[in-house]
Amino acid sequence: MVGTSKIYVFTDLDDTLFQTQKKLPPGLRTAPAALDKKGVPQSFLTSQQSALISLFSSQGASIIPVTGRNQAAFDRHVLNPDLFSGLRILSHGAIVSDCGGRLYEPWRDYLLDNYDLEDWGRKLKSALTKVQSLITSLSLRLRSRVISEHGIVAYVSIKADNYDHAESLLMILKNEIATALPSGFRVHSNGNNLALLAPYASKECAVRFVINELKLSANDLVIGLGDSITDFPFLRETHFGMFPIGSQIDRGFL
Ligand SMILES: [Mg+2]
Repeated sequence: MVGTSKIYVFTDLDDTLFQTQKKLPPGLRTAPAALDKKGVPQSFLTSQQSALISLFSSQGASIIPVTGRNQAAFDRHVLNPDLFSGLRILSHGAIVSDCGGRLYEPWRDYLLDNYDLEDWGRKLKSALTKVQSLITSLSLRLRSRVISEHGIVAYVSIKADNYDHAESLLMILKNEIATALPSGFRVHSNGNNLALLAPYASKECAVRFVINELKLSANDLVIGLGDSITDFPFLRETHFGMFPIGSQIDRGFL
């Protein structure tokens, strides 16, 4: 050993720490991890995911979620309430909140100093209008909405009603909308999720910001976990990046 290191784990949630049952082979032992809006279990932990969380917890690691979920969706997790006891990175990185669900003030200041949030709010609402007219004109069975909280408009979320055809329908829309977006937008797509992100909805930027806020020592250990290609930049902000085998990142390297 070369001395004690404090451990920080920055982790994506969906398809990294847990996933919906239909993404798992039948017969696997699972436990509920998150509920849907009606309070019904929607996402589940496998034994391996549960063991990984226990491993980090047993070493006293600080676990910081880095998720596309907004506050309400994040609050529907049913993992140990003490698991995420510090800052949380939500809404694809647009929001950094404290453990009470309040916007972290230094993050608000950072956003106000670096971005014209009102202008981006208008651009995102305009992007939503374009998305909705494309959905109508192409007769796609997709639903879309703007995600905002704490007065910060973060991203346009697009999902399919029918999960079986989600990826192909979302790809059609992605190809149509990509050229119609003003510069500065980024696009996240994985499975049944397509998101048009404002530049400050950046997991990478938020992770860098939180690492700086945590005032780590040079000997502390920072681990990142994620499954999406768009998670990769934030994994590179850590010492060790981990991804689930079979995930979008994994498939991207094949
Ligand atoms: Mg994910």
